[in-house]
Amino acid sequence: MDYRELLESIVADVRALTAQGAVADYIPALANVPRERCGIAVATVGGAVFSAGDADVPFSIQSISKLFALALALQREGDDLWRRVGREPSGTPFNSLVLLERERGIPRNPFVNAGALVIADVLCRRYLQPERAVLEFVHRLLGSTHVAIDAAVARSERLHSDRNAAIAHFMKSFGNLDGDVAQLLDAYCAQCAIAMSCRDLARAALFLAADGVQSPGIAVLDAPAARRVNAVMLTCGAYDASGDYAWRIGLPTKTGVGGGIVAIAPGRLAICAWSPALDAAGNSIAAAAAVERFAAATGLSIFGAY
Ligand code: GLN
Repeated sequence: MDYRELLESIVADVRALTAQGAVADYIPALANVPRERCGIAVATVGGAVFSAGDADVPFSIQSISKLFALALALQREGDDLWRRVGREPSGTPFNSLVLLERERGIPRNPFVNAGALVIADVLCRRYLQPERAVLEFVHRLLGSTHVAIDAAVARSERLHSDRNAAIAHFMKSFGNLDGDVAQLLDAYCAQCAIAMSCRDLARAALFLAADGVQSPGIAVLDAPAARRVNAVMLTCGAYDASGDYAWRIGLPTKTGVGGGIVAIAPGRLAICAWSPALDAAGNSIAAAAAVERFAAATGLSIFGAY
């Protein structure tokens, strides 16, 4: 299957949507990313990669890093991890605190900020340089070390991390954080500031389409764990838009405020689309439309063709 023409036509189609929504500016270093950027890439389990538009331009992966951090933490901790973080959609924005008091510091899932901070805390205990550990995990997935942390974005988010600091301190008050909050925020902000292109992200996420196997001989997760990460992506990967994404796209997805979306068609391929302008839930409007069109055109929704 050659997806090149389909991807070209999708980018041409969704370009007009890049005028809608707003580029994230609560992390000042992200505010100036040109909103007309738009790219898409597909990596197949057979090893082919297709792309269109700005698919080779690195962007801030932000919350898509939560996927890599979760996979790494699962590798190290196994199912013990689920004692500290849940697997339910939150129905709240990604940076919300409201459920934490009622649920005694246990975040709803690993993809809202609270859950990702717990995962980062796990990695802080396991590694001296946890953000390097996430980056090197991505390097292993890609078989290449060209991906880097954008230090300016990391610094910018760290200087504006009061909300995440509040979440972390609150969870610590319930005993669900072990480490030093300042170190944790350093690691979390650096992990979110990894810069990757659509092409890199589609390739790096491929293990989730292949029962945890990244390439022959490189098993990232066992098959049940990889399938379950997809389950959590479907139900929680786009925050309080996850239900709408399941309805529109029908694939496990993970979004980030940099405007990226990774989606998995189990057994088949990984897709990444990117465009910086976001809707009210913090998800890219044009990138979501691009993935939706791809899933519709290929009939790849996990529920059967929509
Ligand atoms: N680094 C961002 C934050 O913590 C990630 C949020 C996101 O991409 N949704 O706010």
